[in-house]
Amino acid sequence: MPRKPKTKAAPVKKSALRTAKRELDAQSMRELEERIAALDPATIEQFDELPLSKQTAQGLKQSHFTRLTDIQKASIPVALRGRDILGAAKTGSGKTLAFLVPLLEALYRANWTPYDGLGALVISPTRELAIQIFEVLRKIGRAHSFSAGLVIGGKDVQVERERISRLNILICTPGRLLQHMDQAAGFETGNLKMLVLDEADRILDMGFRSTLDAIVEHLPRERQTMLFSATQTKSVSDLARLSLKEPEYIAVHEAATTSTPANLQQYYVVTPLPEKLNALFGFLKTHLKAKIIVFLSSSKQVRFVFETFKTLHPGIPLMHLHGKQKQTARIEITERFSSMKMACLFATDIAARGIDFPAVDWVVQVDCPEDVDTYIHRVGRTARFDKAGRALLMLAPSEEAGMAQRFEARRVPVDKITIKEAKKKSIQAQLQALCFRSPEVKYLGQKAFISYVKSVYLQKDKEVFDVSAVPAEEYAASLGLPGAPRIKFLSGQRAKALKNAPRATADDSGSESEAGEAAKPAVRTKYDRMFERKNQTVLSEHYANLVRDKPLGDDGSDSDGEFMAVKRADHGIGGSDDEAAAGEPTSKRQAKIALSKKLSLRNKPNPTKLVFDDDGNPHQLYEFEDEAAFAAQGPAAAQKAAFVAKEGEMIASADVEDKAVAKEKRKEKRRRRLERERADASDDDDDAGVELAPYDGPDADDGSASDASAGPAGPARSPSPEPKRKWFQQDAPRKRARRDVVEVEEPATLADLEALSMKLLGN
Ligand code: ADP
Ligand code: MG
Repeated sequence: MPRKPKTKAAPVKKSALRTAKRELDAQSMRELEERIAALDPATIEQFDELPLSKQTAQGLKQSHFTRLTDIQKASIPVALRGRDILGAAKTGSGKTLAFLVPLLEALYRANWTPYDGLGALVISPTRELAIQIFEVLRKIGRAHSFSAGLVIGGKDVQVERERISRLNILICTPGRLLQHMDQAAGFETGNLKMLVLDEADRILDMGFRSTLDAIVEHLPRERQTMLFSATQTKSVSDLARLSLKEPEYIAVHEAATTSTPANLQQYYVVTPLPEKLNALFGFLKTHLKAKIIVFLSSSKQVRFVFETFKTLHPGIPLMHLHGKQKQTARIEITERFSSMKMACLFATDIAARGIDFPAVDWVVQVDCPEDVDTYIHRVGRTARFDKAGRALLMLAPSEEAGMAQRFEARRVPVDKITIKEAKKKSIQAQLQALCFRSPEVKYLGQKAFISYVKSVYLQKDKEVFDVSAVPAEEYAASLGLPGAPRIKFLSGQRAKALKNAPRATADDSGSESEAGEAAKPAVRTKYDRMFERKNQTVLSEHYANLVRDKPLGDDGSDSDGEFMAVKRADHGIGGSDDEAAAGEPTSKRQAKIALSKKLSLRNKPNPTKLVFDDDGNPHQLYEFEDEAAFAAQGPAAAQKAAFVAKEGEMIASADVEDKAVAKEKRKEKRRRRLERERADASDDDDDAGVELAPYDGPDADDGSASDASAGPAGPARSPSPEPKRKWFQQDAPRKRARRDVVEVEEPATLADLEALSMKLLGN
């Protein structure tokens, strides 16, 4: 609390009061400490039995938290004593309060004031989860006078930086936090009392490794550290990285028969990859009154399914959430989905951990999760706290055995079910039509295909994920694509780095990637992002460049050490130099380009010409014929030679015709001139190029006589070609004297033009 300015009226009385109050505070604090020391965790059932500050107790009461959950019972008393904690408890079991209550109490008992700077830090793997933790903190900490804030990116760094130095409690994502630590001079972390990692195993894993290590370097060693997750790490090296001191391992559900909530029913269904979207659509159709989260393996997948299903109108509101969306959109969607009773949210794993959407009925996983931990977190979005929930996992036949075995080993009870034939409905034809109608959808489909195959290829668990088992052509067809996009495999370290890159970038902006990328510019403007986005307009050439690939297994299964990169067929189009430059941190230049239409057009391909058939359907100007049919006609080289020869002949014969027509025209012109000269001998002073057209009567206007190739247009056509009617003839009155009608071959020089205008004006 900011201290009140001294008033001169009664200084003595005030100071006496203050001393008395301070003594009282010290007294109650001592009592609190004593109660904590004497606390018997086994007897605690309710929050009001805990030795807590008045403020926290009031906040909990006003937020309607009365009874403690198991993890809260086990960890809060220990945490209040200042011990480091490794907390493990099932999803939805109340871990957030298990660390927020001790956090508030630690600062309270340290007499933390708004002037003491940063006292507690909570790190979350995603922005959404950070926001959610912040909201809970705001609720239960409302009676305290600490200042708390979010540092999650997606906002102006400068604005954040100004606030950040005045905050006591920070909830943040790793990337953005490190950015501030590295950049903000006034960001003082030396006093930190408490560090919390929510979803700790995720923050300690590869994707965030270097970022987290760099953050920890900025923090004092003397601090309390708490790690929470449903799938806790026990790795000694991880704990050493955080310099935990004799941490208390609190795993309340370790003895439980299952690792997932007891009120969660879990099913899996074996669905060949090309059938998955049909199955998903069928599922949505039969669960219109439910609140559903559908997990897919990448944001491209999410976008494709969202965009296509939207137009198929399954009858339930659809939303999507992934890391490539703007922050405002992400917040809006999270809030909207939270408030809805019936809706379906397509999401990537950014929604897999921690998010507490109320009353989700179903979690559907269309793509197999990368490991059992991810599975546990995804299904944990339903059946939270005391609610029930159901989960459905679609497994490709090749994934079944491996996953079933892993589920059993981790005590995850998943029952196999089958989908009734009657419930199956193919949407392949609709998807094909959509892809055909909209190049954007088709492009999305291709990206979705590529990212799926890529994700399967890059998975660590090769016993479950087998890229050679992906039926590429059938899968592409099931997305509505005309063929499987070409994917090139490449070997080496670079691809290994690739493996971690998508996770790091998808989950959080900033620099949560590997050490090699730490040199990247930390601050990226929205223009940088805009330019990093590839193919903002759909490139039709992209499709033209697509080549049907040989079966993936040929390439994919030959070496385990090999990794794959996607061969971008569109690289050569917009000028690859420009595209490469766009990745560089020249954001000023990029901003300028972005603002200038002319400059930005430079990077875009030329507009594509479409032709329309009789039914009004668009076609590419050139469409590929069927490859098999083409091959059947003989070797390509021979076909090419034949084609060139045929075209050459055509050109030669056309040339002969053209020459004959031109000769005929010249003859006719001469004939007319002579005729005219004879008829009108006195008018031979005309300038060259300007001549008077003879009036031939109304019939001559019907067709354009010089159009030699035109069909039998008018019955009254004169047998010999007639001069074409010129632009001004239309307006010229028909029956005027022929001198009034002036015809111009083509005013080539200024002199011609002058002569013409003189003629026109003079008459
Ligand atoms: P976890 O982090 O373990 O997945 P959360 O902390 O997100 O779980 O809590 C899950 C849900 O349970 C939240 O909606 C939260 O409000 C509720 N909850 C947590 N603790 C209690 C409690 N003691 N009493 C009632 N509800 C609680
Ligand atoms: Mg949580």
